[in-house]
Amino acid sequence: MALIVQKFGGTSVGTLERIGRAAERVAATARAGHRVVVVVSAMAGETNRLLKLAHDIAEVPDLAEVDVLIATGEQASAAMMAMQLIARGHPARSFLGHQIAIHTNSSYGRAWIESIDREPVLAALDRGEIVIVAGFQGIDAANRTTTLGRGGSDTTAVALAAALGADYCDIFTDVDGVYTSDPNVVPDARRTPHLTHEEMLEMASLGAKVLAERSVEYAMRYNVSVRVLHAFQDGEGTLVDGREDEMEQRTVTAVTCQRDQAKIAFRGVPDRPGIAASIFAPLSEAGVVVDMIVQNVSEHGLTDLTFTVPRVDLKRLLPAIEDVARGVQARQVDHDPTIAKVSVIGVGMRTHAGVAARMFQALSAVGVNMQMISTSEIKISCVIEDKFSELAVRVLHDAFELGKKKAPSPRGKASAAKKKTAPRKRARA
Ligand code: ASP
Ligand code: MG
Repeated sequence: MALIVQKFGGTSVGTLERIGRAAERVAATARAGHRVVVVVSAMAGETNRLLKLAHDIAEVPDLAEVDVLIATGEQASAAMMAMQLIARGHPARSFLGHQIAIHTNSSYGRAWIESIDREPVLAALDRGEIVIVAGFQGIDAANRTTTLGRGGSDTTAVALAAALGADYCDIFTDVDGVYTSDPNVVPDARRTPHLTHEEMLEMASLGAKVLAERSVEYAMRYNVSVRVLHAFQDGEGTLVDGREDEMEQRTVTAVTCQRDQAKIAFRGVPDRPGIAASIFAPLSEAGVVVDMIVQNVSEHGLTDLTFTVPRVDLKRLLPAIEDVARGVQARQVDHDPTIAKVSVIGVGMRTHAGVAARMFQALSAVGVNMQMISTSEIKISCVIEDKFSELAVRVLHDAFELGKKKAPSPRGKASAAKKKTAPRKRARA
């Protein structure tokens, strides 16, 4: 008998009928003798609907009250899930964030979970009830409702699994696992049966949408085994845990693409101590997450400093950036919102050489220029022109033989790559 947290996302609870089918899955787990704690998202589209109402009232609505409003989506789902279970003869009850003391900090709209009181949950389980928890919401020290950031029900589920010492945290969603790349872009992308927390964390932070990034951080910190499963199809899904399986022998596990970035370049800045600090301090004060910083070798005491920021932040940052540029006597400052970051990820990179060379060759074979490169132990990212992003993802997926098909011969590979040189029209902005 195991204790399992089962989280259902917005599409999986998008209609009453779907909540019913999800309830059936939960009931089946309970009938198999397991103790089940269910975490639910708001019905698909509900959070967006509520956010729009808030923004119809004010351009910048009160942040704390926005959280009170958008937390209602999960409250409704939790009650309906409990009712669907009760209607099927299973004792069940719902809990809101404050009822199990999901304590968070006070960053309304993106709060961090600090602690959870597992006693009420355990007591209900001991009474033989199926416990339903409203995802995405918590309460702060000032006794106000908070929410955990978009996709935050994943975080509730993983944090709850950690607090309860659950055997698994199942994330039920509308795909049957985590894929080697986005199947909408790469038709022969495959489901990966297993990923390490580290790989999943890189993937989530580099554009894979299947799990909220913070939930993976919690899973890694508390060593929670997460299974990503299709809500309404049977299958093994993808297991994400801390185990590094040496038998798997893979170098690259996934190719991701992030298309919501922008590039800022300070050109001809004096190369002296303190310059980088004076460029980045105002950005950090504005709460902007800066990524991929590249400083060139200086010439005649001047250097170029280039970095990426989330594209949504670019416009509001520009005045501050112009200010800083004057302050540090930059010759020029450029910005470019039409970039994308493509990355290859895999724990095998620690022990296998040649990944970078293979990546760069694959991109150059189709004439894609790399504007910036950054690496960590288990990933390599390149900034390229946004219009080439889908092409780049496809050729990298091929180059690392991640597809369903058998690995093509080297000659076949070259010609396959050549055929793809013509950039396809962008499907999404
Ligand atoms: N309902 C929230 C959102 O749409 C949280 C979640 O779905 O996980 O972001
Ligand atoms: Mg979601």
